[in-house]
Amino acid sequence: MKFDFNAALEKLKNTDYKKLAKDFVYGKPHGERRLGDLYEPKTGLYKHREWRGIKDTMYYFNNIWLYNYGMIVADIIKYSKGDLPAVLKGLWRYRWMGQTYLTVMHWFDRGLEGMRGEGLRASAWHYRGIATGAIRQFCTMFRADGNLHGGKHNDAWHHSIAMNETVWGGLFYPWADKYTNVALEMIPYFLTAHCNNHVVLNYIDAAQGIGVPGDNCPMCQAEAGIFILDDVPDYAPFMISVNEACDDSVATTIIQDWLFQGPLCSLGMPMRFSDPLVKQNCMNDIEKVWKFIEEQTGTAPNWDLMKEKLALQNANMRWEWEKWDVAANTNYYPINSVAQALYRIYTAQVGMYDIAPYIEGKVRKIMEKCVDEKINPYPMTRHRAIAWSCAPLYYSSWCTWAYNCWGINTIINMDSLMMDMEIRTDTYEHMLEDCAKYHMEAPMRRMAVGGMDHFLEVFEYMERFHCDMVVMYDQLQCKGAQSMHGIFEDEFRARNIHAIWMPHALPDKRVVPRAEIRRLFNDYMFTVMHEEPLDPSLLDFDDSESW
Ligand code: SF4
Repeated sequence: MKFDFNAALEKLKNTDYKKLAKDFVYGKPHGERRLGDLYEPKTGLYKHREWRGIKDTMYYFNNIWLYNYGMIVADIIKYSKGDLPAVLKGLWRYRWMGQTYLTVMHWFDRGLEGMRGEGLRASAWHYRGIATGAIRQFCTMFRADGNLHGGKHNDAWHHSIAMNETVWGGLFYPWADKYTNVALEMIPYFLTAHCNNHVVLNYIDAAQGIGVPGDNCPMCQAEAGIFILDDVPDYAPFMISVNEACDDSVATTIIQDWLFQGPLCSLGMPMRFSDPLVKQNCMNDIEKVWKFIEEQTGTAPNWDLMKEKLALQNANMRWEWEKWDVAANTNYYPINSVAQALYRIYTAQVGMYDIAPYIEGKVRKIMEKCVDEKINPYPMTRHRAIAWSCAPLYYSSWCTWAYNCWGINTIINMDSLMMDMEIRTDTYEHMLEDCAKYHMEAPMRRMAVGGMDHFLEVFEYMERFHCDMVVMYDQLQCKGAQSMHGIFEDEFRARNIHAIWMPHALPDKRVVPRAEIRRLFNDYMFTVMHEEPLDPSLLDFDDSESW
């Protein structure tokens, strides 16, 4: 192309240098960023990184990008406890590991896109919390893994407990000083679906390949698929499974029971948890599990340790309530929606782990600064949204997109609100009763499939969190949620509530692509809300092959 000297001269003459300098120092204002222009077509990879102004670009590069790469290495060294070869072998042996470790920082990038200041910092700490928790889990699996140690079962194997990812980690507190429990599918399925969504598709296809019908929940299919493809580390002598979140998971348990090489104890979880008659049944089941662990390990439960751990967990719950209070009643809440939801689900489900207090300390400092100095980390908020029902794993960063493109700030998610309680430790009976309640009010079960009255709690939470919009997840293969579609439509209409339906298929982006989700959002915002986008470059782009 011929260089046009005159045009270049004209451009230089017309450039507003004051504005240019300002944009360089502070970054472009929200409406001028054109974040969509940064993407390579299809892959969603960046042509170049976003310039966020000097301070935030430096922060992102040093304190998020470099720091997290460094800490990933440091965490692997720490949690592999001298057995680094096992981690390296795990990288080759397991598809879910080999195909996701490089995409982790891109997962950070997607969730933190466009963020500035305290919002960027607080959200990144929650991402760091999930990453380090994940490394702890897969390193524990690999250190103990018979597949990676020539078929031999070492001491780590004898001191590990495998459980379904939806069994609450707190049930294992009484053995926490001698045994490490690791949620089996949490990293192979759940987290990898966020970091690199291509991986999970193999597991879904594998489940359908042996005749599992394609129209049931893809989460349950994928959890079964990792067993069918023999992509499960042999890291523990026994396993605890559960029928959470819904009866689709029962089918997973059957397949896991066939393929798991060892005793399996199935923990029941009542579907209709608010029926008082079922709580006793659940308490009995938890005691059955504790007895099973005692028999398998030959180690009696340490109830003092349980109390100690629950005290930490209760303190964490109280801190979570403080966060919710700030989110509900002020504009100073610094954690973006995807960071908030994923971290909350992760910690509530896994239970207290070593680094959680450190992460929370960092976030507390940032949030207190926002409150004290009245900093609004999301100043372009036009709508305060609540996201309800079961969320798409392959597009958890949609809320970052919705804020950047339309100013829709998702204040709270349904699954953040489950397991919302302290656990009494004054007597064994109280503790057992509360453990049963906590266990029953698990993700998805608590609101989505635990009964219609709970599903409709969205309207109470909407009021409590001062939201003016509902983003209604529409998991097309979730029969429980689907059965409520019409009732929700009627309720939204009767209450005059703006609700955007977001169809998806949990981890399977082939059913509803991300671009289709964005198109539906855009349609609603243009035709119903009569609004214009804050960043038109984000309206339509092709990320069909992205991680
Ligand atoms: S998304 Fe629906 S079908 Fe799938 S596990 Fe959750 S509640 Fe069950």
